[in-house]
Amino acid sequence: MLTDGAVKALEKQQYRIVGDHRHSAVKVCGWTKNMIKGLGGCYKLKFYGIMSHQCMQMTTSISCANRCSFCWRGYKAPVSKEWKWGVDEPQAILDGALLQQEKLLNGFGGNPKAIVAAYKASKTVKHVALSLTGEPIIYPRMNELLKLFNEAGISTFLVTNAQYPDQIRDLNPVTQLYISVDAPNKELLKEIDVPLFDDYWERLNQSLEHLAQKKQRTTIRLTMIKGMNDIEPENYAALIKKGDADFIEVKGYMHVGASQERLNRSCMPLHEEVVAFAKTLEPYLQDYEMFSEHKPSRVVCFAKKKFKKDDGWYTWIDFPRYEELSTEGNDFSTDEYMKKTPKNLVGIQTESVLEKVEGEEEFVSVSEVGDEEQLE
Ligand code: SF4
Repeated sequence: MLTDGAVKALEKQQYRIVGDHRHSAVKVCGWTKNMIKGLGGCYKLKFYGIMSHQCMQMTTSISCANRCSFCWRGYKAPVSKEWKWGVDEPQAILDGALLQQEKLLNGFGGNPKAIVAAYKASKTVKHVALSLTGEPIIYPRMNELLKLFNEAGISTFLVTNAQYPDQIRDLNPVTQLYISVDAPNKELLKEIDVPLFDDYWERLNQSLEHLAQKKQRTTIRLTMIKGMNDIEPENYAALIKKGDADFIEVKGYMHVGASQERLNRSCMPLHEEVVAFAKTLEPYLQDYEMFSEHKPSRVVCFAKKKFKKDDGWYTWIDFPRYEELSTEGNDFSTDEYMKKTPKNLVGIQTESVLEKVEGEEEFVSVSEVGDEEQLE
């Protein structure tokens, strides 16, 4: 997929290209590094229990069918409606990605800032975030790769831009499947996502309909660009209802990467502004409750009320249970792999700098400090 020049340019940015056909890539997430240095993990640790130091951020397709204005991808990144490259074997992608992740983290072995136990644990990848760049879902053998991840005990978070409804419909179980909803109406979606498909709006709507049929955990993510798409909460709510997702993440746009060439810094909302917009959604989302926030990532999260039991929230994932369920071959659902959310991670007014996660190792904490270099 990529030319020699493109590979070199990406490697300079600390990406590593995986596979003979050069359509997959790995890059260590800033939160993974932070966690190894004892600076705390990402918002998905706080909301769902992802151990950031054991997370691998990657994609199976550097190409995408959108040219989103807020994306950190450069203008030169490949775009296409269809897959038109050779296809790497799923096993080769899994092995290659794990190898590259390990190599990229090797430097922490002699780094005095690294917590030894966290570095050692990072060698066992427990989670994969299929997002990074491009549109991972168009990799033609995604279901086989998901099976390999499930069998390896690696949970899967897959993010899609909702332009491939058939692939969403046909997808095998994913630990948590995300759809990005970037605008509340058709005209604005075109302006913000700059899609290649003419029927981009129909594709989004069909994708949401398929999302609603999924039995495993689902999330709709809104990325708020100040002064652009922070409008029409009732229209966002209609799309959210169609997708019937378990979680709604409302997250501020981050002024990073190539998006800086397209958007002004003033498009990046403050955390308080993200919270304020999220609150305008509340009256339309009767089935949901805002349960947590993460200030460094400028994100708040709503969960379906079914995740709240008499003794508190159950938004965390029981990963060993998911591994069993996903490899047994029987039907299973979200309710079967919920885990209690540590009490100190619930609430949208958390003030402490580092919050220790109950019951986890000493170095596991959620960061309440961060910088804008973090992409997610
Ligand atoms: S932000 Fe995403 S890629 Fe980074 S550690 Fe968290 S889940 Fe993994």
